[in-house]
Amino acid sequence: MCPMNDAAATAALKSRESTIGICGAGIGGLVLALRLAKLGFRPMLFEARSREAALSEGEFLTLAPNGMNGLRAVDCYEAVLREGLETNAIELCNARGRRLALADQTDDRARFGARSVTVRRGTLTRILIETCEANGIIPQFDRRVSSVASHVHSVSLRFSNAVDLSVDLLVAADGLRSLVRSQIFPEFPAPHFTGLIGTGGIVDVDIPATEGVMRMTFGERAFFGYIKTATNPVYWFNSFAADSADAVRGLDPHALAERIRTMHADDPFPNAEILQQVHRVERSYPIFDMPLLPFWSRERVVLLGDAAHAIGPHAGQGASMAIEDALVLSSCLTETINHKDAFTRYEALRRPRIVRVMKLTRQNASRKRKSTRLGVLLRNLLLPLLLPIGIRAGRKLFAYRADLEPWSSKGAEYAAGNNQRDAA
Ligand SMILES: Cc1cc2nc3c(=O)[nH]c(=O)nc-3n(C[C@H](O)[C@H](O)[C@H](O)COP(=O)(O)OP(=O)(O)OC[C@H]3O[C@@H](n4cnc5c(N)ncnc54)[C@H](O)[C@@H]3O)c2cc1C
Repeated sequence: MCPMNDAAATAALKSRESTIGICGAGIGGLVLALRLAKLGFRPMLFEARSREAALSEGEFLTLAPNGMNGLRAVDCYEAVLREGLETNAIELCNARGRRLALADQTDDRARFGARSVTVRRGTLTRILIETCEANGIIPQFDRRVSSVASHVHSVSLRFSNAVDLSVDLLVAADGLRSLVRSQIFPEFPAPHFTGLIGTGGIVDVDIPATEGVMRMTFGERAFFGYIKTATNPVYWFNSFAADSADAVRGLDPHALAERIRTMHADDPFPNAEILQQVHRVERSYPIFDMPLLPFWSRERVVLLGDAAHAIGPHAGQGASMAIEDALVLSSCLTETINHKDAFTRYEALRRPRIVRVMKLTRQNASRKRKSTRLGVLLRNLLLPLLLPIGIRAGRKLFAYRADLEPWSSKGAEYAAGNNQRDAA
């Protein structure tokens, strides 16, 4: 691929001929590739993992209505809805099983156009990859980007198999530990451990269905959540406080399962009963956080999704933010002639919303941390008052339709309005 001069690159961007490389075929990278292709670009998608690993790694996640709506723009909404579990309420209980709050989301579809959907990660990835392939985008698996350099007229990439390539623009969608971010923005801080570790899984257990309710417990020792429909297994997760990100790294899957069981042994029914059937926990996920980065692009490289703004899972918005980023960035590239203007506009549209999600995520995370007995008592007293406020704030995020108006003034005003409120 030969790099172009600025004038030619600008013209080519307008005519969709410039080569847009995407590092990372996670949720954000795949949605971006799909959307760019739909808009007439020809993206190239590089993924470090093998296809098999991409299809099998990870457990499940819940996509908020705004993320589900985002999937409409890349024709994946129906398939994900079909294969996922509709989530129509979140119930939060204390360690004795008493309800602290219920976030009723049964009107999500009427209010926001979509429900929250809990889906296996591998299933979501498969749907996105198959849709890519059906649209002529072939993700290049086993292609780990090992170094990257941005020049005036191009970006050069080196892969771990020593092959070199040059693209006109590069989108870093390579997640929390983005190699592209660390090389192009070496002055940016590294993600830091938040003091919480998550685990989860999917297991067959004969317990009553929750009928679309994600039931969560602030247990004495750790936080637990699960959802179960009549015809599906139990989808469960937990998070617990730890002094270091490596706290359980050395444990084998049996020992880790045993450790998780112990954490929830005194939880209300059916948390311990679910975990009795969990004999292996293959992986733990230390939760990392990043301060808001000062900017997301430099020359011809732009950050997207977790690479730009790692958001922990505590507000259930990380994947939805990556999807929204992808739709907004692709629209900005379409509507703006110069890539620098496109990157600037993308960032201006996305940053206020990301600030809001980060704030909510941190609030939610703080309630899951280890606490003294007095702290737990206070938490249980205050949560019934605070949770409805948090739930209302979380639901406000559902309203933005990146699929319909990704760059319109309505989207920008919505975001700006939220930002002003944040600042107030
Ligand atoms: C325990 C846990 C639970 C979560 N639950 C939820 C949830 O319920 N709902 C929700 O919305 N979010 C959830 N999240 C957050 C969500 O998973 C992320 O926000 C989301 O995956 C970000 O998407 P992404 O595309 O930016 O990055 P990723 O999905 O991380 O994708 C990055 C991709 O880049 C690839 N890559 C990395 N380096 C390279 C390289 N050098 N070269 C080529 N490829 C590379 C990786 O292999 C990967 O495929 C959770 C996160 C955790 C840790």
